[in-house]
Amino acid sequence: MRTGTVYLVGAGPGDPDLLTVKARRLLDEADVVLYDALVSEAVRDLPPESVDCIDVGKRSGGERTTQAEINDLLIRRATAGDDVVRLKSGDPCVFGRGGEEAEELAAAGVPFEIVPGVTSAIAGPGLAGVPPTHRDHASSLTVVTGHEDPTKEDSALDWDALGRSVTAGGTLVILMGVGRLPDNVDALRAAGVGPDTPVAMVERASREDEFTVTGTLETITERAREVGIDPPAVTVVGDVVSVRDRVSEYLRAAGTARSTGGAMADDPAVPTE
Ligand code: SAH
Repeated sequence: MRTGTVYLVGAGPGDPDLLTVKARRLLDEADVVLYDALVSEAVRDLPPESVDCIDVGKRSGGERTTQAEINDLLIRRATAGDDVVRLKSGDPCVFGRGGEEAEELAAAGVPFEIVPGVTSAIAGPGLAGVPPTHRDHASSLTVVTGHEDPTKEDSALDWDALGRSVTAGGTLVILMGVGRLPDNVDALRAAGVGPDTPVAMVERASREDEFTVTGTLETITERAREVGIDPPAVTVVGDVVSVRDRVSEYLRAAGTARSTGGAMADDPAVPTE
């Protein structure tokens, strides 16, 4: 029997208009789609009824499907002849375990393809009027996970080095950083990053209820708490955040523009720095 192909596909940050043309086509052509918890409802709804759609973000009991179970399912379905779309939020290879799944598929002899997606690490700030790089503000960009405990001895992240790159004018983007925001802010402050360094958090970028809060390294923890920032959100630290002040008046959020005919991106109730 013919072995199917597994497509490791990026779903983008949520707005289905930000899917690649290839991702959109594969969602129509797949035999089965396995999607993660962070893939938006709007994207989940796209495949036709005939496509078998499986939520591997949660099990019926509310638990996550384990990575081993996902690997097993990918290999089993492809070996049975199905073309499988493994749909991940953003880009499949940016904090999405796309690399791990590719290794498993290769080890099992299953043909696969990587279909890159629009990552929240870059699109999240951009959608909120914060360009990750800018000739006047930042010539480097670092993307990290905020999920680790920065005080842990064997932390994979060197916060002193990250702090130096921000002090030198680089942009730092933190994914999975809502829960540990205070710890990560402390780690940057301890690394000597100035308290006035601008910070923005963009929650649910590109979705109908996209929401941005800005502050400084000194104020962002309190600001995020005040407005109730919840995951998924991307945090961006650096001078580029100041660009938002100059553009936000004219910036329309994609989601709201579509549903209301062009509401402003900013919630006027939320003070910006
Ligand atoms: N592969 C994904 C990242 C997965 S890790 C990508 O490339 O975007 C999960 C983290 O991604 C979340 O904790 C959050 O920090 C970020 N994220 C994903 N979708 C987001 C969105 N629509 N808005 C803001 N952050 C998002």
